[in-house]
Amino acid sequence: LVRLRARLARSQNSLGKGLLTLLSREHLDEDTWEEIEETLLVADVGVVPTQELVDRLRERVKVLGTRTPADLRALLKEELLTLVGTDLDRVVKTESGEDTPGVIMVVGVNGTGKTTTTGKLARVLVADGRSVVLGAADTFRAAAADQLQTWGERVGARTVRGPEGGDPASIAYDAVKEGIAEGADVVLIDTAGRLHTKTGLMDELGKVKRVVEKHGPLDEILLVLDATTGQNGLTQARVFAEVVDITGIVLTKLDGTAKGGIVIAVQRELGVPVKLIGLGEGPDDLAPFVPEAFVDALIG
Ligand code: GDP
Repeated sequence: LVRLRARLARSQNSLGKGLLTLLSREHLDEDTWEEIEETLLVADVGVVPTQELVDRLRERVKVLGTRTPADLRALLKEELLTLVGTDLDRVVKTESGEDTPGVIMVVGVNGTGKTTTTGKLARVLVADGRSVVLGAADTFRAAAADQLQTWGERVGARTVRGPEGGDPASIAYDAVKEGIAEGADVVLIDTAGRLHTKTGLMDELGKVKRVVEKHGPLDEILLVLDATTGQNGLTQARVFAEVVDITGIVLTKLDGTAKGGIVIAVQRELGVPVKLIGLGEGPDDLAPFVPEAFVDALIG
């Protein structure tokens, strides 16, 4: 939690502290409520959730006897937790079948941190005693396969790759085949995220998915989103969600933004839980998303 707090320092300063300061004002006039609204919007909470939260806070502050910092903090925490959602299933599933590995496809626009996230996730799984095979199906970005292989060597996972510019679906197919042959526990497939044409993306990701499913069901399709890209990120998310059935969101670069509210906005947009968060470039900077710890870190 201490680390999460440190990494979310920017969000904390703008969101939690800002809101608590505003809510502590002696007179909660319309201007103050507007400032509260503005603070939430700037933190990327999203228009509808912001309105809901402000309405709830207005209602509850009215009936609050005292407004001590502790009262306000508790109230804000409760309402933020409700918005973030404590009952969503945030477990990353990795159990396809008896003789087949769990298969996770990692999708997202290039530059969001897809390859890094795949590597970090492999590290977490290996540390947990699982054997992992990596599929380097991002054949669009030249260095992606090398980058993934470096991660694989670092954590002890074999990387299946193909020729540069090769067919991503055939690499994905080979990776799962290799996973089955090795008796691996999990296969992680890094994909390419070219967004310039939706049909191109749909063709490619759809094909990867279909090919992988020839071996057995997919456990997860994780969408990687860069938290610093705000509304742009949400637009991207929408496109991906139209193309494949996203089962979970990984929000990266939360360490570099004051916009932690994006967690709320993106879940609302896709109806899918944030399962993991990226808090830096290092191998240990991937964390499971725990709503209470996150809200605590936001409020500070
Ligand atoms: P890809 O094109 O989506 O595969 O993106 P990469 O995995 O190559 O990541 C792009 C850049 O973002 C790299 O410099 C990564 O080190 C960096 N990055 C990835 N995740 C995080 C994160 O959680 N926090 C920070 N600060 N940087 C990250």
